[in-house]
Amino acid sequence: MRLYTCTCGNRLFFDNTQCTSCGRQTGWCQTCKAVTAMEPEGDHLRCLGPLGSDGCGAQVVPCRNYAEEQVCNRTVPLGGDAYCDCCALNETVPDMSVEGNRARWARLEAAKRRLIYALERLGLPFGAETSPPLSFAFMGDPLDDGLWRKAGEAERVYTGHAEGLITINIREADPAEREQIRVDMNEAHRTLIGHFRHEVGHYYWDVLVRGQCEDQFKALFGDHENPTYGAALERHYAKGAPKGWEEHYISAYATMHPWEDWAETWALYLDIAAVLDTAEELGLIPMQQEPTSVDAMLRRYRTLGLVLNELNREMGLLDFAPAVITPAVAGKLEFIDLVVRRAAGQG
Ligand SMILES: [Zn+2]
Ligand SMILES: [Zn+2]
Ligand SMILES: [Zn+2]
Ligand SMILES: [Zn+2]
Repeated sequence: MRLYTCTCGNRLFFDNTQCTSCGRQTGWCQTCKAVTAMEPEGDHLRCLGPLGSDGCGAQVVPCRNYAEEQVCNRTVPLGGDAYCDCCALNETVPDMSVEGNRARWARLEAAKRRLIYALERLGLPFGAETSPPLSFAFMGDPLDDGLWRKAGEAERVYTGHAEGLITINIREADPAEREQIRVDMNEAHRTLIGHFRHEVGHYYWDVLVRGQCEDQFKALFGDHENPTYGAALERHYAKGAPKGWEEHYISAYATMHPWEDWAETWALYLDIAAVLDTAEELGLIPMQQEPTSVDAMLRRYRTLGLVLNELNREMGLLDFAPAVITPAVAGKLEFIDLVVRRAAGQG
């Protein structure tokens, strides 16, 4: 993730809607591919571009979810679509009549924009030309007197992926709820961006592995057809992860079924790619000109993780990079790297 500059010289961040120094409205400009300052011009805005540029001068309007709901910070070309490239992927959005849902939705969209940024940077396909295209549903369990009710099995919303559609139960956007689930499930981290990275892993299994390199997949992750997903799920919740799983898997949940192992390892790959990208942009580690090997990626990530773990511990926070990446997990990451590069036309 890059940092951006306002036309006044102040630093702008990916989620900014206003410059804290000059007060100008800011937003993502599709033409600049950056967060820039915007100047009102009649009934629309004009992109001023970053400091030192002439600005792209694009005439834009805020995305409808920016203007009306304050859950987005992207703009669209004047006279074009109502929704930005990220919001256009939404199939279902939270019920705005429920108190607190606007804040939950805003957190979901912020995490989703980060995901989309990363997919574009890696050159991964997800748009209308991809089969199936990626889409999102943000839904809540039914409410009882304004409190989360223990919904019957049939009405409960499950976070998951099916045929291009990623569904997220919006209670995950509630920090207290999410932390409770994290502790109950004994997870090292539980975050919104983590959910997006995991679920999009299932999506890319369908798009990039199914019917294309399933044999290679099986050799590393195991046979996804035997046992069936249903049987594996039952066994996992009855017996838990096998002893010594840490040697071969990135998380206990990954032991459930080869598809979950893939999604967990895919999420780790996106974690590492995003952290290294941002660390490079902030000047914490040297810029890498050439695409690097997974081995080199992991070396850089470990060095950074060591420092960030200690800094987090100083502040009493959870470890930044809690997982030990064993050779078996690194082997799976190499396969994912291959699949990603092939999809991006670099492999
Ligand atoms: Zn400014
Ligand atoms: Zn622009
Ligand atoms: Zn939008
Ligand atoms: Zn999953």
